[in-house]
Amino acid sequence: MPKNETVSPTRAALYIRVSTEEQAMRGYSLEAQREVLESHAKSHGMLIAGYYQDEAKSARKPCRVRPACMRLLSDVEAGKIDLILFIKLDRWFRNVADYYEVQKILDAHVVHWQTVLEDYETITSSSVRATAAYIRQAYGQNWDNVRCRRNLYQTLYIGHYESNGRVNENFCPPIVPRELFDAVQKLLSNNAKANPTGRVFLFTSLLICAECGHRLAGIRNGRYCYYRCRTYTERRTCPHKKQIREEDVEQWLFSFLGDQLEKQRLEWDIKEARRKQAAASVDRAAIRRKLTRLKELYVAEMIDLEEYRRDYELYTAQLAEHPTIPAEEERPNFEAVETILAKGFHSIYDSFAPEEKRTLWRSVIKEIHVDKERQITRIVFL
Ligand SMILES: [Zn+2]
Repeated sequence: MPKNETVSPTRAALYIRVSTEEQAMRGYSLEAQREVLESHAKSHGMLIAGYYQDEAKSARKPCRVRPACMRLLSDVEAGKIDLILFIKLDRWFRNVADYYEVQKILDAHVVHWQTVLEDYETITSSSVRATAAYIRQAYGQNWDNVRCRRNLYQTLYIGHYESNGRVNENFCPPIVPRELFDAVQKLLSNNAKANPTGRVFLFTSLLICAECGHRLAGIRNGRYCYYRCRTYTERRTCPHKKQIREEDVEQWLFSFLGDQLEKQRLEWDIKEARRKQAAASVDRAAIRRKLTRLKELYVAEMIDLEEYRRDYELYTAQLAEHPTIPAEEERPNFEAVETILAKGFHSIYDSFAPEEKRTLWRSVIKEIHVDKERQITRIVFL
């Protein structure tokens, strides 16, 4: 029996944001975010107070230039909202100053927020601080100005700064876990072998023709490297006529890999959540059938009250449990990709030798599919 039937349901505002890149990629769609948020609100008995969708807006943009965010705040001030839901923290803010500014308004109106796919929420002031620390760590502060030289990158990346033999171990917050960083270093040192032909193609064996499925071959033309489909050049049986320049692939990766990562991670999380839900409901249905059967046995006087109670308790306890089922496929190493995307990494990357660059991409990516219009259509992570 419900303890208190007069409590009104939580009024939840659903905040959804997609960036221009995400729109162009058709990834991380409004619909996917909406679906996740709606189902979360429904399953927690919340009332949907409104949808707030910012399209083509970056989370680095302050709230005042995001129309839906502004509308949301005015509804907060009007007392229409109890809780704001978004799928992940990066939908909300990537900038600590803005985060605090908006948080002040939320605090004043006792409005909380919650991420549906991550474990962050504002309930206590300590979790607000923790969140600010997370934003700072995940998206970086003051990293733009740090010019990382080759001999610095190793320690700077984990927060140490070395200069003339002096070491400052708390120079900046570490943005890469130590173990992961060490693993990358190891990979780099193992593979830094010179190519006998004198030119290293960064993406050989990674680039795949979207039309025929064959690997693209690297060729050198002047100072540039290109990749082309041999099925076209040798047999003319593939329509993939155009070649793609190596720099363009690199450029694309630095611009869009983050969106790909988020999109695929979201899809993975949703798929996992659905799978677990489905598995749990099958399990539950079976237990419920047992409960019904138990009742029938008791009514038919085939078991006594004591036996009925004992089994009843057993089954209801099973219903309350969350079954754990192993995943069907291995989860891609999204965290390794994040290392490459962390702020400040691009300048470190630029200081790498070609062999190191090649090793780096191969350590996180399995396939990059390119179509005949030089568009990257798909990324498969390792
Ligand atoms: Zn082809």
